[in-house]
Amino acid sequence: MILAGLQKLTLLDYPGEVACTVFTKGCNLRCPFCHNPELVLPGLSQGNRQEDSILKNNISSNDTSHPMGELPPGSSPNQTEAFFDYLNRRRGKLSGVVVSGGEPTLHADLPEFLGRIREMGFLVKLDTNGMRPEVLRKIVDAGLVDYVAMDVKNSPRKYAMTCGIAYLNAEATDTEAAILWERARESISILMEGHAAYEFRTTVVTGLHTEQDIKEIARQLSGARAWYLQQFIGEKKLVGSYCRGRRTLKLCTPSVAELEKMKSAVQLDVPSVALRGV
Ligand code: SF4
Repeated sequence: MILAGLQKLTLLDYPGEVACTVFTKGCNLRCPFCHNPELVLPGLSQGNRQEDSILKNNISSNDTSHPMGELPPGSSPNQTEAFFDYLNRRRGKLSGVVVSGGEPTLHADLPEFLGRIREMGFLVKLDTNGMRPEVLRKIVDAGLVDYVAMDVKNSPRKYAMTCGIAYLNAEATDTEAAILWERARESISILMEGHAAYEFRTTVVTGLHTEQDIKEIARQLSGARAWYLQQFIGEKKLVGSYCRGRRTLKLCTPSVAELEKMKSAVQLDVPSVALRGV
């Protein structure tokens, strides 16, 4: 695993549990509204903050976050051992561990990592963008996770745009873009089989999401046990702000009233829908 950080205590990230959150490095998407550019854009961790050139310089054959690709094996055993030492000291105090990112499913040794956490007696929650359903399938079927939170980025027709895929590949074809939605759809199906507890979550951004989009997502999530609409909060350092020149998107925070209206519009399709963070 390539670990990028540890939040030692969270009462929010794992519903009902006292947990810590470990962040993995690298992501296969470039959601413009993402608040974690240092986990997503490889150049930032090396102090290279040149706009635009970050992606040009790093989307190359040895880019560790190539779309849909797999990261190389873990680069820092000491870091991993330090994390497990911390967990060892928190036995009896923490009940759960959230494995977040970046995108954890890019790491080839994720199953082993999750298994080791569970063997220590902790519950495991995985945060994922659902772009690697084959990995999700393996992990769920092996019983390595207790809870999965999956981002559902937008309606199928806007999926690629919302994932920032044009930042990664300006020449992405419609077929390549459609693959993103297909992958999300497959991951949604895996989770809705119900072998592990799960939630879907959509960060709602004015400029990316309309009420119609939320309705289209709802049709895909009909019957889901939990779906949260999260309010996008603007910040200076978003992934999209490092990608200017490719495509400029104006991203704004939706009002609570707008979110409430969206929620009401989809409540029949997905009765479990709720707002989070407002
Ligand atoms: S919000 Fe998007 S870019 Fe950021 S970590 Fe999640 S999937 Fe990756």
